[in-house]
Amino acid sequence: MTIARVTRFTISLLLVLTSAALIIAAAGPSASGTVDWAMVAKIREEGLQHSRVMDLESYMTDVLGARLTMSRDMQRAQQWALGEMARIGLVNVVAEPFMNYGVTWDNEYVSLHLLAPDYTPMTAYPIAHTNGTGGRVVAEAALVDLQLRADLEKYRGTLRGKAVLVTPPVRINLDAMAAGTPRLTEADLAALERTVIVPPRPTPPRVVRNAELLSAAEKVAFYTAEGVAVVLQSDGGGVGYVWGFSRPGAREDGWARDGMLTSPAMVAVTPEHYNRMYRLLQRGMAVRVEVEVRNRIGAKVEQAANLVGEIPGSDLKDEVVMIGAHFDTWHASPNSSDNTSGVAVALEAARILKAVGAKPRRTIRVALWSGEEQGLFGSRAYVRSHFGSPRDSLYPPKPAYEKFSAYFNQDYGAGQYRGIYLQGNEAARTMLAAWMEPFRDFGMTTVSNQSVGSTDHVSFDEAGLPGFQFLQDHIPGSAGHTNLDYLETINANDLMKNAVVMASYAYHAAMADTRVPRKGR
Ligand SMILES: [Zn+2]
Repeated sequence: MTIARVTRFTISLLLVLTSAALIIAAAGPSASGTVDWAMVAKIREEGLQHSRVMDLESYMTDVLGARLTMSRDMQRAQQWALGEMARIGLVNVVAEPFMNYGVTWDNEYVSLHLLAPDYTPMTAYPIAHTNGTGGRVVAEAALVDLQLRADLEKYRGTLRGKAVLVTPPVRINLDAMAAGTPRLTEADLAALERTVIVPPRPTPPRVVRNAELLSAAEKVAFYTAEGVAVVLQSDGGGVGYVWGFSRPGAREDGWARDGMLTSPAMVAVTPEHYNRMYRLLQRGMAVRVEVEVRNRIGAKVEQAANLVGEIPGSDLKDEVVMIGAHFDTWHASPNSSDNTSGVAVALEAARILKAVGAKPRRTIRVALWSGEEQGLFGSRAYVRSHFGSPRDSLYPPKPAYEKFSAYFNQDYGAGQYRGIYLQGNEAARTMLAAWMEPFRDFGMTTVSNQSVGSTDHVSFDEAGLPGFQFLQDHIPGSAGHTNLDYLETINANDLMKNAVVMASYAYHAAMADTRVPRKGR
């Protein structure tokens, strides 16, 4: 950090402390949302001037790399994370197995080259939980367009040993790429702040599936039966991107070894390389590729695990505040933003709290989830087994359900927090807004009533527990779920501020007179 920046933070801190004193004087000893300004000052100093967040971020990105759920890569990375949680000073650090997740799958090697009519190396990554090619293969390419059951007959007996292009050519939006993704503007934030009253969703009409339409899994089964050499596909995104890594027909109960070994090799290709092959084939030209995929597939079913660690509470130690992020990623990049950044922030928030000697009343628990990318499996299983839900007859509420306060999550990229989503929980507004007050100078000002999804706070929210996702800036170049989620997109200042805010929210939730209120209470 530069001298100039330290000075700027110090000045803004003074401004914040001054305005804070006024706010406290005006508000009096409110039970819901009192700010401990002395602790905020300590957290800010530790998090902004002695930050370790980029060291964590860089270690996970560069040394650990990709961490697909139920892979040897993930298992190695989790060993590191358990050690890191202990080094930070967390206690009760443990890996909690949550479900049989099938056998491990790791990609060890992939190459794809165009050999004819011209030579070029191509950028490609295997689809998770698919087989390898069984050595280096040279194959003629062919276009395949399977939609209806009747289409099968067109191709039956013609695909053996071929490299089949099975998705349509990709439209690349160059305008969007050139424009990039700006940070949130005042107008964006104002729009998010306007209360959104969400009417109950009408029950959707029952859709009768066209029985003639082939499912993704049926198509894969056909390619396997026909003995294709490799399935090539491209799923959108920009130039150089490979997007999406899930095998069609993903299984909740994990991956069977036989299913992987009997699938064809499946490879996702960047749009510009894929489209070139596609156009050549449309010209009627012979297209020859060389491909090799080696995947290491485990021999026995294993359990996926979440990692947790605690800063124990004092007089209210049975009550729990949680912070966290998903530790698992897709497998084609180190996933600096999604969600290495969230994990770095959660670990750094815990480190800050230990470093400043925080002695919370409630227990602060840090969770690094697994199985998020495939469907929030880790956090959902955790909520079921630890808290239960009045909405779930199989997993009714446990004593810990009432003792739970709130969960704070980061998973919308690596951008700075600009606010928080209430998830429709108006009862929590006063508290969450008050705890934001010390971070106005960060530009964190927005409380949005909106409910947002696709990440682990949803597992808490759907059980009726307060679970929140921070409202984050988009940052240019960030490309979660692709091969291009790399460290250079990460803004250190953003992550430092996020860790400070997450630490402060956890601390205030752990110290408040009451637990964070629930919806409708
Ligand atoms: Zn994510």
